[in-house]
Amino acid sequence: MDKQLPLLCYFEGGVVPLNEAKVGILTHALSYGTACFEGIRGYYNEKHGQLYLFRAREHYERLHESSRVLIMNLKFSPDELVEMTCDLLRRSGIYEDAYSRPSMYKASEVIGVRLHDLKDELYITVQPFGNYIDIDRPLNVGVSSWKRIDDNAMPARAKITGAYVNSAFAKSEALLNGYDEAIMLDNSGHVSEGSAENLFMLRNGVMHTPSVTENILEGITRLTIMTLLREELGIPVVERTIDRTELYVCDELLLCGTGAQIAPVGSVDHRPVGNGGVGEVARRLQSIYFDVVRGNVPKYMHWCTPVHTEVRRPAKAEHAVAVASK
Ligand code: PMP
Repeated sequence: MDKQLPLLCYFEGGVVPLNEAKVGILTHALSYGTACFEGIRGYYNEKHGQLYLFRAREHYERLHESSRVLIMNLKFSPDELVEMTCDLLRRSGIYEDAYSRPSMYKASEVIGVRLHDLKDELYITVQPFGNYIDIDRPLNVGVSSWKRIDDNAMPARAKITGAYVNSAFAKSEALLNGYDEAIMLDNSGHVSEGSAENLFMLRNGVMHTPSVTENILEGITRLTIMTLLREELGIPVVERTIDRTELYVCDELLLCGTGAQIAPVGSVDHRPVGNGGVGEVARRLQSIYFDVVRGNVPKYMHWCTPVHTEVRRPAKAEHAVAVASK
């Protein structure tokens, strides 16, 4: 990142430095959790000197869906939102792995819980960003005593900020109990997802993942993995209900999400998954996934939005050329 450039964000109709974007303490979204958001990653490709946003359009389509659920009017199209994000990254001078957090929120400063008849606002932040959880070693996960929120109580399909208290209960319980991550069951006792990740389980050569009616966030990484499993690894994928104890007897288990990327699981409730190490399928999937997100696979370049109009070659290479031409 260019040290002299401040991080810029889009905030309530204009572009301002991040430290100038402030809301009042009575903001409805702060009182009642009435906001929705996205997390979008940008991957820097050293060789191309380019930063690529991964599946940004799909993230903004989901922000539109979440906004609809919350009775909000997101007035920019997904394509416009992608361009606004690229503009912020360019003007903030970010030439490294990055993260963008857009959010639509109920901005009225009023007391009174409801969804309608309130002012909505949009913000988009960008920042340099590395790994969210350690993905180089298998995770030890525990099934949470907290149940996943139900579609008729708090729809997991929409990425609603208030709903993340459910994730926070599960994540803190897991960490305080010595696990790396939680897996939540839904109210019928079936496997739903991690605190901020979808889940894939390998049994007898077939990958299984809970279907979209199992109180999950319809993850974009989940869709990416389904495509890569089928098209690149030739592994069939089935969306179906998963029992808790299937997690104890499966051959491989992994969690996935924009933040977590592809995180292999080594044990569930102290029972080793497979031999307790990183499974073969997870390892192959990680390798192709990182090639794809970094813009190294032409077949999947349509998922990668180039951010910069001026690509930047690595400083070392520039120096080498300068010396050689003397
Ligand atoms: N489930 C939950 C609850 C999440 O917060 C996330 C992260 N956005 C995911 C799944 C994974 O979704 P995605 O792959 O779209 O990031």
